[in-house]
Formats: sequence, structure tokens, C-alpha cells
Amino acid sequence: MTKQTVHIIGAGISGLRCAEILCENDIDVHLIEQTDSIGGRMKTTEKSGFLLDHGFHVMQTGYRYSRNAIDFDSLGSRSFSPGATIVTSVNGIVKFTTLSDPLRKPLASLSALKSQKWSDLVKIAKLQFSLKYLPTEKLLSGGDNTTEYFLDRIGFSKSFKNEFIRPLFSGIFLESGLQTSERMFKFVFASMARGNMVLPREGIQAYPNLLANKIGRQRITLSTTAEAINSKTVKIDDSLMSTDQVVVAHAPKEEMKTMRKVWTVYYCAPRSPIKGNYLIVNGDYEIGKNVVAHLAVPSDVQPSYSPPDQALVAVTVVGDAADALGLKSKESVKEQVGKEVKNWFPESRKWDVLDVIETRFALPARGERSGISNMPKIKENTIISCGDHMTHGSMEGAIMSADHAASEVMRRLTLDK
Ligand SMILES: Cc1cc2nc3c(=O)[nH]c(=O)nc-3n(C[C@H](O)[C@H](O)[C@H](O)COP(=O)(O)OP(=O)(O)OC[C@H]3O[C@@H](n4cnc5c(N)ncnc54)[C@H](O)[C@@H]3O)c2cc1C
Repeated sequence: MTKQTVHIIGAGISGLRCAEILCENDIDVHLIEQTDSIGGRMKTTEKSGFLLDHGFHVMQTGYRYSRNAIDFDSLGSRSFSPGATIVTSVNGIVKFTTLSDPLRKPLASLSALKSQKWSDLVKIAKLQFSLKYLPTEKLLSGGDNTTEYFLDRIGFSKSFKNEFIRPLFSGIFLESGLQTSERMFKFVFASMARGNMVLPREGIQAYPNLLANKIGRQRITLSTTAEAINSKTVKIDDSLMSTDQVVVAHAPKEEMKTMRKVWTVYYCAPRSPIKGNYLIVNGDYEIGKNVVAHLAVPSDVQPSYSPPDQALVAVTVVGDAADALGLKSKESVKEQVGKEVKNWFPESRKWDVLDVIETRFALPARGERSGISNMPKIKENTIISCGDHMTHGSMEGAIMSADHAASEVMRRLTLDK
């Protein structure tokens, strides 16, 4: 019997994951990708011996669908330390305070008591405990107000919210106002409490590469644009082709108009400026005044990210923060970041900038009442879609939607037999 054929438009993580499941079910899959490489937003470029992900990016081992789909060990993944280091500066005196995960490292987190209120630390621990074990459908349901509203309802102090949660989550949500739905906050926060933030040995593109090799690279046509005409007809370049099912694995144009933006400035340093594998969050983060949300040293976590005896420093600037200061060009972002980082690490004057990466369509916007849920809705008789735009902006959202799309493809193909 001849195999049924599925055409998938887009070779980002959702298209590749959907293809993986269909191949495992003996379906003949063809992927069409408009750019000249696979991975979509999860791409890595090598430059002068450094691995530069296209925007600072981590994988979360606490994501439930991802945990099923990915063998993190086979990717040689290594973890950031759970928690973060807050950097603040008063009258030129710079202070670093590490906030460890209170449930996993209770003693280490006590040291933060000197600078943080014990009531905030207790609240964080309680929140971790109450959300960590909840199923995803519970995390992605209930109240759908903003994250800021949710944090205020819990009663975190203003300083804790602004010095720790805002810069950390600005770099995750890619908006600085904590206006993202509280569902997304609960979902990400619980995943962070359950697992670790990791980097694969060969960069963030290692997972898409693994999937592409598994599916077979001959199934992927690069540098070719496709369009779904209906659920069984695809237009590739200018030719129409019949197939058993089409899957669209990219965001529609209307969604792209509202997607969030981020800049990443990569430096090459002679040595790491920090101790411990913590993310450094800007405790003085304030829209209109400064732009750096957080800084990381990926090569501390994963030495393959830099040549030996050098360090890779990644600085994240959320699009709205750059816009607030009128920074539109790579040069202006680089200059502003240079000024801010120099206050924390005077030696950074001698660091070389490796690259400044602007990612315009980084994440779908998910504000209050955006109705994020665990179930991407695929309507009967419509073209099947997957991608983070079907759920929420994360690798987990993309993988979750791909799993649902693959199930729907198989359901329809079974009916056709
Ligand atoms: C800088 C940055 C940092 C991030 N950090 C994290 C993080 O730390 N943790 C996390 O979980 N998530 C993170 N994300 C989000 C995560 O990367 C995305 O959610 C995920 O990669 C989306 O995958 P996708 O398949 O839905 O879409 P995409 O990756 O956008 O893939 C869509 C693909 O379709 C192709 N395409 C589009 N139109 C056509 C067409 N007409 N014909 C053919 N091909 C087409 C595109 O070229 C693209 O390759 C980050 C994203 C960015 C940009």
C-alpha cells in the first residue's frame, strides 16, 4: 500500500516535531522552508569559535511536553544554577545579591535575607510549592489578568517585584511591563521550579538539527516558499500540488505584526565576569532609563560556547526598553548596553562586541484575557496549523501544538483510508 503524504510548511521546531511524529507513524512527510536553514527561531551561528544563538535562548527541562519529546542528555545539556543574581548600583557602589531557589537551596537563599525581605522569600517559596505540582491545564486556566496584577494580589513588595521579578520575566516575556497574562507567568514559574534552564552542547539549534537528521534531510526543501491553498492543496513556488494533508507550521502575517521584539548583544571577554552559573538580572531596571534586562555567560554553563580561555557574554535588551530610549539601530543599542554593563563590570571596556542581533518577530504577544490554554484549537475541515502562535510563546508551546497537530493529521488520514 502506498504511504499517505503530508506537506508541512515551515521547518521551525513545531514543523520538525510534527514531522517527527508523522514519520514515526509511517507517513511520507515533506517539509518546505523559506529560509536557507532549519530551526526557525532556534538557530545558532558559529563566529570566531563562539556559538551565537539567534537571541539568548534556553531550554527548560521542567516543560512537560518538551520533557517527553527531548532527551536533554543526548544533547549534552548543562544547566544554569536555579535562581538569579540581582545587580544593583547605589551612588556608584555595585552590589550583587544571589537569590537561590528557596526550595532546592534553602540555606543559600537565606544569605539573600540581608537585602530582601523575608516575607517576599517566603512568598516565593510558597508560590513555588503551590504551582510546581499543578497539571499544565490548571496553570493555563483560571484568572487571566496581567502578571503585575497577580503579583500584587499575592502581596510581593514593590522592591522585590521591580528588582527581581520584573527584569527576570521581562527577558522571558519580552515585554517590560509585566502585562503578559498571569497564566503564562504561572506556567513558566512552575516549569522553572520543576526543572532547570539548560543549554545544549552545540547551541540551541542542536535540537532542530537532531530532529532534521532523524526525519531525514532529504525530506526538507530549503529556500522555498509555500502556501496552503486548502487542507489538501499546497502551492510551492508557483506550482499547485495535491497532498493528503497540509500543515502550516508558521505564524500568520496578522499575528507577526504584533509579535514582540528583542536585541541580544554578544561580547567576547578574556574571562567570565561572574561567579556561579547564575543569570544576572538588572535590579535597577526601569523603562525609559536603562535597557539591559539581564546578562548571562553561556560559556560558564556550556564551555563549548566559546574557545578555551575566553568567555561569551550575552546581554538581553527587550524591544520596548530600546524603543523607550529611541534606540533603533544596532550601533545605538551597542553603545547604550556598553555604558550600562561598564557600571557593573568596569573591565568590560576591553571586551569586544561579537555581534548585535535584532529579533523582530520573537514571541507572540499574550496579554491579559488572551485566553491562553493547554489545547490549541484546530477546527474541523480547516487547514491544520501548529506553532507557538497557536498556544503561547515558548518552545513548549510550539512542541505542544505540534503534538496536537500531528494527532489531528493522523485522525483525518485514518478517516480518508
Ligand atoms: C530570541 C528568542 C529567545 C527565546 N527564548 C526562549 C526560551 O528561552 N525558552 C523558550 O521556551 N522559548 C524561547 N523562545 C521562543 C521559541 O524559540 C519559539 O517559541 C519557537 O522556536 C517557535 O517555533 P515555531 O516552529 O512555532 O516557529 P518558528 O521558529 O518561527 O518557525 C516557523 C518557520 O516557518 C518558516 N516559514 C514561514 N513562512 C513560510 C512559508 N510561507 N513557506 C515556507 N516556510 C515558511 C520560517 O522561516 C520558520 O523557519 C525564544 C525566541 C526568541 C526569538
